[in-house]
Amino acid sequence: MTTSTPTAATLTNAEVSNADRSRVFHSWSAQGSLAPMAIAGGSGTTVWDAEGNHYLDFSSQLVNVNIGHQHPKVVAAIQAQAEVLTTVAPAHANAVRAEAAQLIVDIAPEGFEKVFFTNGGADANENAIRMARLFTGRDKILSTYRSYHGNTGAAVVATGDWRRIPNEYSRGHVHFFGPYLYRSEFWATSPEEESARALHHLERVVQAEGPDSIAAILLETVPGTAGILTPPPGYLAGVREIADRYGILLILDEVMAGFGRTGEWLALDAFGVRPDLITFAKGVNSGYVPIGGVIIPGEIAHHFDDRVFPGGLTYSGHPLAAASVVATIEAMREEGVVDNAKRVGAEVIGPHLARLAGRHDVIGEVRGSGVFWAVELVEDRETRVPLAAASIGAFKSDLLTRGLLPFFADNRLHVVPPCVITAEDATRGLDIIDDALAAFSV
Ligand code: PLP
Repeated sequence: MTTSTPTAATLTNAEVSNADRSRVFHSWSAQGSLAPMAIAGGSGTTVWDAEGNHYLDFSSQLVNVNIGHQHPKVVAAIQAQAEVLTTVAPAHANAVRAEAAQLIVDIAPEGFEKVFFTNGGADANENAIRMARLFTGRDKILSTYRSYHGNTGAAVVATGDWRRIPNEYSRGHVHFFGPYLYRSEFWATSPEEESARALHHLERVVQAEGPDSIAAILLETVPGTAGILTPPPGYLAGVREIADRYGILLILDEVMAGFGRTGEWLALDAFGVRPDLITFAKGVNSGYVPIGGVIIPGEIAHHFDDRVFPGGLTYSGHPLAAASVVATIEAMREEGVVDNAKRVGAEVIGPHLARLAGRHDVIGEVRGSGVFWAVELVEDRETRVPLAAASIGAFKSDLLTRGLLPFFADNRLHVVPPCVITAEDATRGLDIIDDALAAFSV
């Protein structure tokens, strides 16, 4: 007797989900209670499941696919590169890798000269931390409690949220509170007060830890997973001043906020602050092939002219990834993708979310820019108690039923569609959220 194995094309959602669940060990999950949603394909701002149900992707797949799904130019570049050379060791020179580095350097502020390629965002932070320690000869890394920097050795220790894991790399990591006016640690009542008090707190931490022991302050330019916390006026410039005063490097993590997400090429462009190292991943090629890296200014790059930098990965600057970086940045330029994100954010998403906040008491605050917005969902506007997890779960299921794939972090709905989203699709998605909130509040 023969048993027929269904082909991918004929599998149901349940079959895909069960096959996945039985053999794939999932990240950040209790394995027993998983029911992973099947995603079979995508195009632009839409994905579909194995049974052909379409969803507007308001998650960008972990805030990643800035250029949208299956961009033809990027797919073609990967295919063309695959015909020529599908792998090359990092020690060789390779034209497409050099071109990718050039395009990335072009986006960085004045004085940035080189790119150290990694496989993603965590190892970018890992290597930036190592570089800062070697450059300064100091040990400690300061980062905020409300941060996510990745899930490898030092990156997850630098992470400040619940995922930080003390481990063998936890040597020399210190956390502090960054600004978050809605839930201020500093009893502040205005953005200016929040900024000034958060800076005072940071400087006190620096002094208490001993400035001579601190290699770097590592910050997400706009903390993403922690709540899309655009820094208040003067905060980043103030951090820069504190870093300069004590000879400390400033590393800005642009893994989530960079490459168009905030409506700027790099989120730091909005703040006029020049960091000492920049880390990136995700939007640089929308994750079509894994890649990330550290953008390095001349003064730090040349420090290693006659010293070995002890770091490297077999797949660093992988040619398929490099080809996709080149095509992504070119396509983003040709199609005005960053301007689109800025415009849709300012003209559609921001005003529309403000209207929703006026209509639905469950919304405590909306904040963001570009295609990077957080909606704080609360039990009560006065007390700001976060909406309970069970209610969030029900809201999320309802959004899926209505054809919108959302992104939630704790009690917040993060509105993070691809940067290429049209005003029409943004409005359609926000109307779905409006309807779901209305049904939810009944
Ligand atoms: N840094 C930030 C700001 C992130 O948001 C993330 C991932 O979400 C990372 C680093 C880690 O990137 P990766 O998952 O590619 O290692």
